[in-house]
Amino acid sequence: MKSSRFILLIILLLLGAVAIFALNRPKDVAKDTVQIQSQTQKPIIVATLFPFYDITKTLVGDQADISLLLPPGIEPHSFEPTPQDIIQIQEADIFIYTGDIMEPWVKDIIANLPKTVTIIDASKGINLIESSEDHDHGHGHDDKNSKEKLALDPHFWLDFNNIIIATNTISDSLAQLNVLDSNSLTQNKTTLIKDLTQLDTDYANTLGNCRNKTIIQAGHRTFGYLARKYNLEYITTEELSPNSDTSAQDISKLIDEIKEEKAKAVFSEELIEPRIAKTVSDETGVPILLLNGAHNITSDQFKSGISFITIMRENLENITIGLDCK
Ligand SMILES: [Zn+2]
Repeated sequence: MKSSRFILLIILLLLGAVAIFALNRPKDVAKDTVQIQSQTQKPIIVATLFPFYDITKTLVGDQADISLLLPPGIEPHSFEPTPQDIIQIQEADIFIYTGDIMEPWVKDIIANLPKTVTIIDASKGINLIESSEDHDHGHGHDDKNSKEKLALDPHFWLDFNNIIIATNTISDSLAQLNVLDSNSLTQNKTTLIKDLTQLDTDYANTLGNCRNKTIIQAGHRTFGYLARKYNLEYITTEELSPNSDTSAQDISKLIDEIKEEKAKAVFSEELIEPRIAKTVSDETGVPILLLNGAHNITSDQFKSGISFITIMRENLENITIGLDCK
């Protein structure tokens, strides 16, 4: 009898030890991660598009955890958020988007966001241009394109004045939250605006002295703002977003333009195989130069930490060659 009581006692002690161990063990890894995050207390910022991710990163430095919603390499015009993306936005402290025209999917999401998320529309206070403003170059668009002719051009970040307005909008909204060091925010903003202003001056000085005045690009209509700002003509094969059904007629028009303008190059766009640019280049003998709209970047560029300003400096070098500028 005594020995069976002893065995029962041992079993009870063992069960107790197992229970204590189970209670003290961390439940799962995810909970640990959340605990670490809350200890750092950094605000979480989600930005949709690369230019606004980049300027916000420059503004906040390491004072916030900032992420780019569109994965590197993804074409942004046809982007639709996944359920995971929506959760990421809901759990952020600050959500920065490009505007209703570039991102029509945002409207439904922000209507249902918790009050804990501060929403910043980077296009606030910016006048979007109609694509038709820079459009008419004797292309003879037919009626089926009339709807596209009146469409607003979403690529406003390619006018440096506009990106300065967006920098101020984002910086002011961040300052109002009182979660970031206001001195470093102001200092970073001042430096960034100085750099963007210098970029604008360099573009104006260089592009005012070019033998050719027409940017001819095999791609979609991305640089309407830039062309307008520096008094250049702009000819493309596609309208305001990329599509795969560029006709042989569109391509031959581009070839004719290159010959007529005695152009030095055909420009291609980022993140796509320059198939059409290659056809045009083969037909005309002019080289292909990249004109990067900075919508998004490649994985390698993301890892290297490339900036919007660096991309625009590279663009200026290529335009200088392509338009034969001094
Ligand atoms: Zn675009």
